[in-house]
Amino acid sequence: MSDNDGKKTLGVRGGGSRPGNVKQSFSHGRTKNVVVETKRKRVVVPKSGAGKSGGGAGSVGDPSKRPAGITDAEMDRRLKAVQAAKAREAEEAAQREAEEKAREEERQRRREEAEAKEREEREREAALKAKQEEEERAKRDAEEAAKRAAAAAAQPAPPEDGAPARKTAPANRGAERPARANDREDRGGRGKGDKSDGRRSGKLTLNQALSGGEGGRQKSMAAMKRKQERARQKAMGQNTVREKVVRDVQVPEAIMVGELANRMAERVADVVKALMQNGMMVTQNQTIDADTAELIIEEFGHNIVRVSDADVEDVIKEIEDKEEDLKPRAPVITIMGHVDHGKTSLLDAIRDAKVVAGEAGGITQHIGAYQVTTDGGQVLTFLDTPGHAAFTSMRARGAQVTDIVVLVVAADDAVMPQTIEAINHAKAAEVPMIVAINKCDKPEANPTKVRTDLLQHEVIVEEMSGEVQDVEVSAHTGQGLDELLEAIALQAELLELKANPDRAAQGAVIEAQLDVGRGPVATVLVQSGTLRQGDVFVVGEQWGKVRALVNDRGERVKEAGPSVPVEVLGLNGTPEAGDVLNVTSTEAQAREIAEYRENAAKEKRAAAGAATTLEQLMQKAKEDENVTEMPILVKADVQGSAEAIVQAMEKIGNDEVRVRVLHAGVGAITESDVGLAEASGAPVFGFNVRANAPARNAANQKGVEIRYYSVIYDLVDDVKAAASGLLSAEIREKFIGYAQIKEVFKVTGVGRVAGCLVTEGVARRSAGVRLLRDDVVIHEGTLKTLKRFKDEVSEVISGQECGMAFENYEDIRPDDVIEIFEREEIERTL
Ligand code: GDP
Ligand code: MG
Repeated sequence: MSDNDGKKTLGVRGGGSRPGNVKQSFSHGRTKNVVVETKRKRVVVPKSGAGKSGGGAGSVGDPSKRPAGITDAEMDRRLKAVQAAKAREAEEAAQREAEEKAREEERQRRREEAEAKEREEREREAALKAKQEEEERAKRDAEEAAKRAAAAAAQPAPPEDGAPARKTAPANRGAERPARANDREDRGGRGKGDKSDGRRSGKLTLNQALSGGEGGRQKSMAAMKRKQERARQKAMGQNTVREKVVRDVQVPEAIMVGELANRMAERVADVVKALMQNGMMVTQNQTIDADTAELIIEEFGHNIVRVSDADVEDVIKEIEDKEEDLKPRAPVITIMGHVDHGKTSLLDAIRDAKVVAGEAGGITQHIGAYQVTTDGGQVLTFLDTPGHAAFTSMRARGAQVTDIVVLVVAADDAVMPQTIEAINHAKAAEVPMIVAINKCDKPEANPTKVRTDLLQHEVIVEEMSGEVQDVEVSAHTGQGLDELLEAIALQAELLELKANPDRAAQGAVIEAQLDVGRGPVATVLVQSGTLRQGDVFVVGEQWGKVRALVNDRGERVKEAGPSVPVEVLGLNGTPEAGDVLNVTSTEAQAREIAEYRENAAKEKRAAAGAATTLEQLMQKAKEDENVTEMPILVKADVQGSAEAIVQAMEKIGNDEVRVRVLHAGVGAITESDVGLAEASGAPVFGFNVRANAPARNAANQKGVEIRYYSVIYDLVDDVKAAASGLLSAEIREKFIGYAQIKEVFKVTGVGRVAGCLVTEGVARRSAGVRLLRDDVVIHEGTLKTLKRFKDEVSEVISGQECGMAFENYEDIRPDDVIEIFEREEIERTL
């Protein structure tokens, strides 16, 4: 029993002195982690003395869970770890508490401030009255006062003379507020006959005023009185008509009910009630729109101030740095290239050569980026996340972090599809490139071939008297590494990279993950300003406060300046790679921006599907005079059609707009294509090819338009029409279903019949069909037959099996996909 749960045993082993500690800490994920590690160590170094662990470990079981061989030293370590974790936890809790308290106080203060003025006036009045009457009644009530004081001890009474009255006023607010100025006068007039219910009303009466300022004891009674008063009001459910403080209530496009109440300083329950009376059944956590909020705000007698949601972002708007504030910064380098051409090896080789040497312990922690210093003294920052997807997705999220791309091409291979992709990505991002011709140690290496290959893709290296630096390297032998670093340093110098270190930090997330022990952790590349411990920030849809910074050597640092990669701890959620981090001056700002973004993202996802349509693109082009280029991506079934399309595209265009093919390739539309399209706001054109499933999902999510064509003229016509802003009513295809071919039969009289499973949508007898093999269209036509079991049917829905045969086409194979489509006319929406 005990061995399915190391807690107990550990508690026993802990000497009984603080089993509580142990247990409690265990309930926390962090601590648990520490112990698991320790256990593993123990297994490696087993010791006698298992008997000691007694009953707790008595049961045999998974040895890794049995604490039998724990040495005292081990135990000590564990306890220490447990205690350390606990202390940290307590510290954090205290910090959180303090923060929460500070926030609460701030809210309270603001609320009170607004009321303070009014209250003061009333109090002055009250004090005056009290004074006048005091003189008159002082003698008469002297005796009674003494009596009352005694009575008050049993039945708490409010305080007395001017000064304490003022102090308690806010607490008595509830009771006092309903009284309007003239009410008070009435009461003042009634004052004399009022003695007996002065206690009940909780208002300042003469008797109370007279009962003398005796200090502490009286005060605490006042507190009790206040409490009683509150309880009474609550019990009566009496919602006193409070004297209104008219507020200007800021309302964004949508606001949570609770937050609205907060901003009006009204009770949530009242607001919910008001909403119900207006026919809206909502809870405090639901969001209402600004119009509804306006109704409610008016009902409560406040003024609405509408703010655009996006305004919350204004506080982090890019500040223009003055030229004199800019200091040189290290370049940021991304390594790209075809798979297996040696990106990872090269990154490792550079790090091994430049970082590990001279490092204490020689342990480098992987944080997604690292810095090296060249022999010439230049510091270079390498992003340790090779791959185009990372590069482009970061760009799509607004983080252009890379200053220089190192394009790796293996000398024993050639320019490959992903090499071309990398070139296009770099070009689209307008980032300079350096070519590293890798694997030059290999006997079959042919660097010259690589250079000539690159020519075809408009990359003219220096050896070919071009501008692009090229270096022959070997990740294995280390050959050319220094030259490569020098080439990078040279390129960096040309770029004159600068940033202002003395401002609120801004950076980009390179990597982020949820760490079991440390919570959400993000590797951030600081781009400008200096990020410091304790800074409050917003990052994407998350926010946080820097609890700790860890550099690429795994050391804790207090701050990180421009081009420095650091791990940031203290996030309240996990951001995504490419998210931008901005330091804000207050936590409220950070939180507000994060919330706004979260909502905006939700809306965007909801509205996705039509974000990057040709029409919108053109609309944008018209609005923005600078946009004269219409970027597109083209994927085709064969090289020939891709080239033909690119050529046709280049001819399109006039003085105002030009079509720019960002990337043209062969094969299915991939996620990477969609990423590039999103980053550049381009649609993707598939010519006789389809998007694979991940790409389709990505496109749906990101709102990237994918258009499919099977006739080049159609494609060209559409782009032409879009370019001239004359997109006419068009016939558009709609995919209504997909079916997967499981088997192929020969049926006499019919020919070859495909046994299919409809995987998506419906298969319809009357619809058009295409045969896809590896996402490439190999046939388009109509169905000769659609059968469910033995019967000819007009429709088969998703999840069902059916038999299909094509009209005049026989080359069908298992694993082919049948696409079922219909054509419909779409009105132009411009
Ligand atoms: P990546 O996919 O681009 O990250 O490529 P890797 O770094 O994983 O390398 C792919 C393969 O090429 C591995 O087997 C490496 O050992 C090998 N490789 C990488 N660089 C060199 C090199 O300079 N010389 C030789 N001979 N092999 C290399
Ligand atoms: Mg790799």
